[in-house]
Amino acid sequence: MNKVWKILSSTALAASLLAVPTMGSADPGPSPQQGENLSIKGFIDYEELGKRLEQIQHTSQGKVTVETAGYTNQGRGIYKASVGHGDKVVLVQSEIHGNEKTGTVALLNILQNLGSSNSPEVKRVLDELTIVVIPMLNVDGSELSRRANEMEWAEVVAAFPQLAEVSPAWNYYSYPGIWNYDQNPGFDVNRDFNPDLDYVPQAEDFPGASNAYGWYITPEAQTVRDVYKDLKAEFGNVDVFVDLHHQGFPYIEGTDDRVTMSISGKFVTDPNSPGGEKYDAYADNYDYNFSRQLNLALYDALQAKGESGFTDISLYDQNIDLPGTALGSFALNGSGTVLFEVSGQTQNFGQKKKGQLVKTVETGLMGIINGVADGSVNELDPERYEDIPLSSRTPGF
Ligand SMILES: [Zn+2]
Repeated sequence: MNKVWKILSSTALAASLLAVPTMGSADPGPSPQQGENLSIKGFIDYEELGKRLEQIQHTSQGKVTVETAGYTNQGRGIYKASVGHGDKVVLVQSEIHGNEKTGTVALLNILQNLGSSNSPEVKRVLDELTIVVIPMLNVDGSELSRRANEMEWAEVVAAFPQLAEVSPAWNYYSYPGIWNYDQNPGFDVNRDFNPDLDYVPQAEDFPGASNAYGWYITPEAQTVRDVYKDLKAEFGNVDVFVDLHHQGFPYIEGTDDRVTMSISGKFVTDPNSPGGEKYDAYADNYDYNFSRQLNLALYDALQAKGESGFTDISLYDQNIDLPGTALGSFALNGSGTVLFEVSGQTQNFGQKKKGQLVKTVETGLMGIINGVADGSVNELDPERYEDIPLSSRTPGF
């Protein structure tokens, strides 16, 4: 593909992680389901999530514990489920964007299995790992099936009076459109993170920008930060952080094959590379090789299934520099980081491909979990990550 296409396609492909989802600018290109607003029934809503977690906790006979980690801006409890008693920590979150629901179903399946199976593999996982799962972070957005949370700038100023004179944060959505953000505004929570886990919002850091740090002004980002800090205090490090998302409809570069899921271990410019000097303070923490090994563990687990669909995996845009994302901030704190980007927003596919997409996320996550539990992930050659195909917006390029 030529250079112009590379730039165009990387812009489009970054839509889910990067862009404001106005119609047009984040248009993921043609697709059989494009524009349809199919039923999202069959995915899990907040009420059912509570019931399912309670059930899983009960049948696990103490192996899975469920707590409320914090509260959304609208006062809904944010669930946190934990399983395992090992000293390696794996933190996984889903639905920081409330219309990206596949990961939530996959996480419940995994909790159910880890909580009830007596297999030797599961026993090893529980002995080696402490797995902490936030299956639906942005509950308010999820209830509206939209990307942003539900919060007005005035509420931020009420919580942080030092921001009274500044322009609202750049990731504040208050425009008219399909989600009626003008009537019911909110923030892209996945730009509200900062590698300084003790950061306090300061007027000079607003309105900020896509390539700058976030501020922990949303209760949802604060909740994840607090979970992360607590784990760090208890275990010394959060070894692995995984964030589950959805994207547009890219192709595997150079082919006509639709991507089932894109993955990545790269969210900020490497502090140890040219251009990464601004992250100097985090250079010793950052472990890109481990992030690449984790991505390979998931990639290999899916390739081993040998069926197209599961094997149509590509790398997400590798040129992003987004330190305000959870992945960017936690990578700078020393976590091995993995992004899952299932193709299609939930409302594009509805239930049509739900089974396969959920299984794709589940298989990939178990590849990571098993690889960290048995130590095999550390044996993988990180350079092999560079052989995973890139994504393209256009078939054949
Ligand atoms: Zn997303």
